[in-house]
Amino acid sequence: MPTSKTRESGALQRALVGKGIRITRQRRTILAVIETATQRLDAAQILRKAARTDPGIDRATVYRTLKLLQRHGLVDGLDLLHETGEGHFYERRAERDRPHMTCLRCGRVQEFGSKLIDRTKGHVERDCHFYIVFARFEIGGYCAACQGSAAKMR
Ligand SMILES: [Zn+2]
Repeated sequence: MPTSKTRESGALQRALVGKGIRITRQRRTILAVIETATQRLDAAQILRKAARTDPGIDRATVYRTLKLLQRHGLVDGLDLLHETGEGHFYERRAERDRPHMTCLRCGRVQEFGSKLIDRTKGHVERDCHFYIVFARFEIGGYCAACQGSAAKMR
């Protein structure tokens, strides 16, 4: 689990602003809690920490902000098996978890849709009773622009 304290502060906020989302003061506080966390936090822990800065923050605000971040792929919500209630953890999505393809010729890196991979991770967690902290998917090959010359290399 990545617990680096060197995580760039303000990155989540910038990512949301980049998507045209308004950042309220309360949201900013919650984002800061997630960004500076050194371990996975559940919603109750996020609420407790955020309320220290802003006592006006309530559960609903925390949940709304988490949903928003999940919708935009900025945090992962991790369901732990056999846990109920607060056993749902959130952490900032690690860059390396993003599935990507690297062109072996020009070096171009493209991300690809991760819905299938998310589903696969879910299956593995259920079937193998394995709690996945990260999974890495990487594809090497030739991008559309390089395929002509790649064909000759085969
Ligand atoms: Zn290429």
